Amino acid sequence: MVALQLDSLLVALMIAALLLLLTAVLPWILSVASSKSRVVKEELVEVVKCLKCDYESVRKYEKGDYVGKVVGSCPNDKGSLVVKAIYVERYTQTK
Ligand SMILES: [Zn+2]
Repeated sequence: MVALQLDSLLVALMIAALLLLLTAVLPWILSVASSKSRVVKEELVEVVKCLKCDYESVRKYEKGDYVGKVVGSCPNDKGSLVVKAIYVERYTQTK
């Protein structure tokens, strides 16, 4: 009889601990889930910059490109266009 009472107490404690854990973790899960659903598309893009003037352009990343690589010539002064940065652009849905 005593052993049975201890068991049920233990179960009750475990349930209470589980509920506490759930309430602590739930907001985090919800925030992760909602931020994921808002991101519609992810795309790797790169910023190309002219070495002579201030010309800058963002374009789609092409395989093999790296920061510092010469990828073309400037439409303004035919200077060298180099990759300045490569990053992931996240397109999010706006209501
Ligand atoms: Zn230029």
